[in-house]
Amino acid sequence: MPAVTVADITVLPRVVADPVSSARRVKSVTTAPQGHEGEGFPVRRAFAGVDLADLDPFIHLDQMGEVEYAPGEPKGTPWHPHRGFETVTYIIDGIFDHYDNHGGGGTISDGDTQWMTAGAGILHIETPPEHLVMSGGLFHGFQLWVNLPAEKKWSPPAYQDLRASDVALLSSADGGALLRVIAGEVAGHKGPGSTQTPITIVHATLQPGAQLRLPWNPNYNALAYVLHGHGTVGDEKHPIKTGQLVTYRDGDVIVISANTVQESRAPQMDILILGGQPIKESVAWMGPFVMNTKAEVLKAFDDFQKGVLGVVPPDWSKAVRPLQRDGAGHKLSGVRPTGDIKGVHNTPDELNVSGQREE
Ligand code: MN
Repeated sequence: MPAVTVADITVLPRVVADPVSSARRVKSVTTAPQGHEGEGFPVRRAFAGVDLADLDPFIHLDQMGEVEYAPGEPKGTPWHPHRGFETVTYIIDGIFDHYDNHGGGGTISDGDTQWMTAGAGILHIETPPEHLVMSGGLFHGFQLWVNLPAEKKWSPPAYQDLRASDVALLSSADGGALLRVIAGEVAGHKGPGSTQTPITIVHATLQPGAQLRLPWNPNYNALAYVLHGHGTVGDEKHPIKTGQLVTYRDGDVIVISANTVQESRAPQMDILILGGQPIKESVAWMGPFVMNTKAEVLKAFDDFQKGVLGVVPPDWSKAVRPLQRDGAGHKLSGVRPTGDIKGVHNTPDELNVSGQREE
């Protein structure tokens, strides 16, 4: 079963939208293309084809899996840098290890979250643990990139380890949807994530026929991404299914309904609901760096080449074993990573610029 589950949803606090509130209308529905991340795990690129201005303050969202690995098959990323934003990694099924060169990291599994503030610059590795590589098994999660405003892009790197047991659990008014508040606030109930940029992240599971009317900060944008299942969004009941992203227009309630008929192998609808205070600055993004200007992105690549973002810690290979299989991992300790850092997350390998502040 995915993430945190509850035997009886009806005992949880219920979220009731004000009856006179205005439901957000659907602005767009897009379908995520499928590809492969890093050294090979399957991903859906949830934000592909959507204008960065509609995503603001978010940049990038990858649904990792859902995949059933054969023994020996699980893959992770090599060591690589980031600067200028935060990564939020949430595991629904399976196990993931994370290590960075500032001492952050650990292992997360069903319902846990790793929250890394890259800030001024960091190196990290994201990989399944060796026992999962050996055994194979189910793997499903997502990684979200949250932008930082210019004044916070140079803040020191930070790491938060959020456990599944810390997530705030709520129910829809009809008792048919389980809401897991990972960060931000829903109807006064706060999630555990400490956010640099004001955002709310909710992982919802809707039983067949359930309807969710979720009060939402009218100053935030609103996005919903279907991890699994079939349903409709908005009071206009726009159809939506696995791998589709909704952007909403203004309003103070998000409406999501699960169809009464779902797939028999996983009869619930799972959906990720996101929003935040738009930063409204220019975005210059290439590969692993998200800055305000082209000059800052080029400087990030230059700083990485010079080792300003750090080197691979000498003891990492004791903890992270899968990438030793080809022996290449040992050669990295104490030096900066080599290889194609632009392609690690399937992010743009050419400069992607949005907004007005380009110099
Ligand atoms: Mn990364």
